[in-house]
Amino acid sequence: MTFELRELYQQTILDHNRAPRNFRVVEGANRVAEGYNPLCGDKLKVSLRVDDADVIEDVGFVGSGCAISKAAASLMTEAVKGKTTKQAEDIFEDFHRMVTDAGYEPDRKKLGKLLAFSGVKQFPARVKCASLPWHTLKAAIESANVPVSTE
Ligand code: ZN
Repeated sequence: MTFELRELYQQTILDHNRAPRNFRVVEGANRVAEGYNPLCGDKLKVSLRVDDADVIEDVGFVGSGCAISKAAASLMTEAVKGKTTKQAEDIFEDFHRMVTDAGYEPDRKKLGKLLAFSGVKQFPARVKCASLPWHTLKAAIESANVPVSTE
């Protein structure tokens, strides 16, 4: 990886840690899950609103954690918003391979800004931080349809 690229990736992570996107509970959310990474203490709650066609209309997260987990959650919300749940799981699969499998060449087009985490695989302790938001998203997608309050 070139110095410039590494620098750009670092900037992306710092920026999303400083100003996380979609840092909120989604209004009218119908899928929710909580995730916890005891190794680092990262604690997240991911909420989604999925429409009848399985498209993620809105997604947000709240919680506290290290810079990597927060930036990963922020970038994740941007990456999956407007996608179908199947597409989101597909992106997660690629992302997960990218941070765990050193020999894997990630799909650059599919991952976009998420490539900022490609260096995480050199820090095994950080892999869980980067993938926690995604595991939580997956759990939320698979969670039973939470009835929207009619109040
Ligand atoms: Zn962490």
